[in-house]
Amino acid sequence: MKKIILTADRPTGKLHIGHYVGSLMQRVKLQNEGNYDEYIIMIADAQALTDNSGNIVKVRDNVLEVMLDYLAVGLDPKKVTFCIQSQIPALSELTMYYMNLVTLPRVLRNPTVKSEIAQKDYDKDEAGVPVGFACYPISQAADITAFKANIIPVGDDQEPMLEQTREIVRSFNRTYNKDVLVECKAVLPENEICYRLVGTDGNAKMSKSLNNCIYLSDDENTIKKKVNSIMSFPRNIEDPGIIEGNVLFTYLNVFANDEHFKKYYPEFKNITELTNAYKQGGIGDGRIKQFLNEVMQDTIRPFRERRHGFERQIPMLIEILNEGTKHANELANQTLKEVKEAMGINYFDDTNFIKEQINKYN
Ligand code: ATP
Ligand code: MG
Repeated sequence: MKKIILTADRPTGKLHIGHYVGSLMQRVKLQNEGNYDEYIIMIADAQALTDNSGNIVKVRDNVLEVMLDYLAVGLDPKKVTFCIQSQIPALSELTMYYMNLVTLPRVLRNPTVKSEIAQKDYDKDEAGVPVGFACYPISQAADITAFKANIIPVGDDQEPMLEQTREIVRSFNRTYNKDVLVECKAVLPENEICYRLVGTDGNAKMSKSLNNCIYLSDDENTIKKKVNSIMSFPRNIEDPGIIEGNVLFTYLNVFANDEHFKKYYPEFKNITELTNAYKQGGIGDGRIKQFLNEVMQDTIRPFRERRHGFERQIPMLIEILNEGTKHANELANQTLKEVKEAMGINYFDDTNFIKEQINKYN
């Protein structure tokens, strides 16, 4: 079976360290392993519009921000097809047909959509939720199946979307009695903390919509300020430190390697040693923040510098997206053709249809 990788990001803001550990890191790894037939990364502007219909400027302005972040983390246009969702009409058409395979209660039961609705300022009775927003998992199923993608490197908030996609695939193939669509599976991060990296507020997952992000493009000062603003549990320095729910340690667990310890905290060899000492007491959160700041600066600096280089090549980036979108259209149109054939709505190419209709009236 062909190996087809697909992921997408909503252009609702720049990408952050949650995206990096939850998905981008896996994407770069898959790219460098090179074991795939197609690799598509899509900027999901149409999905972003489902809850930003009145804010087109935000979506439009973030298309290239997201593209810059892709290149900043080392995704390579020679190895990956980059494309823009709204410029691939077959995706909307597929969404239309898939909507008939999903019931209303099923749409509203999606746990990620539910929690996203709860986070927004919609009316208490959900009366303000746009239909398009409630149905975005169906459009996501169209994105995935249009390319027959079977490998999806995403964070764990996307698992309900992939489950919905698999249900649509099974339902379609069963209803139209033909194996046209392909089932997909998630490639989750290796470290479970990265499935859903917590935001700097410690309350929820880091998310562009929640203003609790450290961005891959943040400058040195901003990173420092954000690290210092992370809430820590008030305690006397000599009291035992609490690790459970401690955002500083969550981030250190994800980002600090032995090299960082050698450079910035040589009293300890690694995170295990530091964790044990912290639990005993005697280490203040100020020192931990200082270390975390060094670690984050070292992590983000190369991304920011690479990004600056690409910021001077915007016409080239637009051309990459344009060419990638053309290729994506070819792939998606082929699937749409097969879908319409399986459904029997390919009237003009269907000689049986023509014969049937003539016979019916003769
Ligand atoms: P929005 O608030 O607009 O929904 P977002 O920050 O949730 O933005 P998306 O564009 O919805 O970002 O997600 C893109 C990809 O990044 C998805 O695969 C998602 O699983 C992953 N991702 C986003 N936030 C995190 C996080 N905090 N931890 C791990 N993965 C994440
Ligand atoms: Mg999201």
